[in-house]
Amino acid sequence: MRYLSNGILTINMKKSYTHLFFDLDDTLWDFSKNSDNALRRLFSEYRLDTYFESYEYFHSIYLLKNSSLWDLYGQGAITKSYLSYERFAYPLRVVGIENSDLVNALGRDYLSFTSSGTVLISGAIELLESLKDRYVLSILSNGFKEVQYLKLKNSDLLKYFRYIILSEEVGVLKPSRIIFDESLKISNCSVGKALMIGDNFESDVKGSLACGWDAIYFNRFNEVINERTNGIIEVNDLTSIKLLL
Ligand SMILES: [Mg+2]
Repeated sequence: MRYLSNGILTINMKKSYTHLFFDLDDTLWDFSKNSDNALRRLFSEYRLDTYFESYEYFHSIYLLKNSSLWDLYGQGAITKSYLSYERFAYPLRVVGIENSDLVNALGRDYLSFTSSGTVLISGAIELLESLKDRYVLSILSNGFKEVQYLKLKNSDLLKYFRYIILSEEVGVLKPSRIIFDESLKISNCSVGKALMIGDNFESDVKGSLACGWDAIYFNRFNEVINERTNGIIEVNDLTSIKLLL
C-alpha cells in the first residue's frame, strides 16, 4: 500500500519500530540551501564573476557535474579526492580556466563553508523532539565524514542521535545492502524494527526496502515517481511524519 500525506492521515503504521534511521542531507539538514549559500560565498570571495557570466550559470554547470560525479563515486569508479577536485575543475575548464591552486582552494573552502551551514528542513527539530524519547534515533548518511559530523554539531542535531552511520566509515554507499545490514548490527536492531526515513527514492527508500526494512519517503518537492512499490509511506513534509509515529 502507498499512502500520501494529503492532510488526512488515517494510516496505521506498525507500532513495532524501535529504531528510526534518518538520512541527513535534504531530509533534516537543508543541504540544497546550505550548499547554495556556500557556493554563493565562494563565487563572491573568489571573484568567479571574472570567469562566469552569472552565479546561476556557474551553479548549473556545478550541479550537473557534481551529480554525475556522485553517481560515479557511488559505483566506486572514482575516488573522493577526484570528486572533490573535479566538481570545481570542470566548471572552470568549461570557461577556459585551468588553475589547480584555485580549484583546490574552492574545494577546501566549499567543505568548510557548507559544513558551517545551519539551515534545517522545516519541522526538523520539532520532529526529533517528539521522537527522541520513544525511539533509538540514528543517522544513516552518504556524505563525507569530516563534514557530516560538523553539520550535525553546528546545527545542534548531534544530541538526538545514538548512532551516526556514514558510508565513508562503512566503506559503501546507500543503496548498497551492506550499509543497511551494518546499520542493524551497529545499533543492535533487527529488520522488523527498523524504519528508514529519507528524501532519496533510490538510496534511502529502495535501498532499505530491498533489505526488508520499511521506509518513509520524504518527497519534499513532490517528485513524480512512476514506480509503484509496496510498503512505502510517502510524505511531503516532516510534520506529517510526526503524526505517523
Ligand atoms: Mg538526502
